Amino acid sequence: MSRGTASSMTRVERFTRSIPAMVEAARPSFSFEFFPPKDDAAETQLWEAIRRLEKLSPSFVSVTYGAGGGTRDRTVRMTQRILEGTTLTPMAHLTCVGSSVAELRSVVGHYAAVGIRNILALRGDPQGGLDQPWSAHPEGLDHADALVALIKRLGDFTVGVAAFPDGHPESTDLGEDAATLIRKERAGAQFAITQMVFDVDNYLRLRDEVARRGSRLPIVPAIMPITNARQVLRMAELAGQPMPSAVTDRLARHGDDAAGVRAEGLAIATESSQRLLDEGAPGIHFITMNRSSATLEVFANLGVRQTA
Ligand code: FAD
Repeated sequence: MSRGTASSMTRVERFTRSIPAMVEAARPSFSFEFFPPKDDAAETQLWEAIRRLEKLSPSFVSVTYGAGGGTRDRTVRMTQRILEGTTLTPMAHLTCVGSSVAELRSVVGHYAAVGIRNILALRGDPQGGLDQPWSAHPEGLDHADALVALIKRLGDFTVGVAAFPDGHPESTDLGEDAATLIRKERAGAQFAITQMVFDVDNYLRLRDEVARRGSRLPIVPAIMPITNARQVLRMAELAGQPMPSAVTDRLARHGDDAAGVRAEGLAIATESSQRLLDEGAPGIHFITMNRSSATLEVFANLGVRQTA
């Protein structure tokens, strides 16, 4: 498997080239997700990971936005640092949680001012947790489609959105998840990234349903190479996502054997990624947890060859 390299891109190209164009050019594309570090030690670890993963010339990297908007400033700072200090094309996540439209405009304006052109537009989860009903800021936005439309009105941004192959916790069926994605596409979204994919068939079902309804939205599956069973179960629980028994049974077989769990987790990530690519997924978005080793191992297992 071979792919073009992003590192040969000029700084101007990185500022102007859209993520869907890069995903299309790479086919398959590889991209990495990071979250803003909370202290100096975490920041050092993150930058080590970024430097090691930068060598793989990903199509783009993304920086999450803390639940409740809590990491707003750190997300902005980190995305800016990646843009200015690396060869990478960053995308900043942005949610509607706890923000008025005026505040959202101000964050987007700041992105524009520092040259960030790629934004993942999200609604965010209810502030009190998934068991609470969603309620928007009184002067804010109710859904991600409205945020997509706002960002598109504010400037020349490439906007991505979230997709839920296992079903969003508040939606009733596959049809609603497909309709939501198409609504976001009509508002201006140019690509989607999924929640963690553990069941490739669910990804294929959503992708095919969206295509059957006439959409051409590229839907990039996210893979989290599991290195710690407890951590991934907690993340899935927080996101209201079911973990298939096919995955939990394989991990459980290793009990407290941390090395065994890690090897199994990476095998699952490799198998899922390979099948997704074989089935025509446009690329893989790796959830790195700000570390590089697991992602590098899966990447190597996939036999991706860099072409200068
Ligand atoms: P929406 O698209 O608004 O959908 C939310 C629910 O409302 C769905 O059930 C949908 O069917 C329904 N719906 C959508 N539009 C309408 C409408 N117009 N009318 C009626 N119903 C509607 N959270 C963070 O806090 N920070 C992050 O950085 C972050 N990154 C993420 C990255 C990815 C790839 C994914 C998949 C999720 C991420 N999340 C993040 C979590 C996300 O914010 C939550 O899952 C949230 O509950 C849904 O966000 P959304 O953008 O899909 O919302």
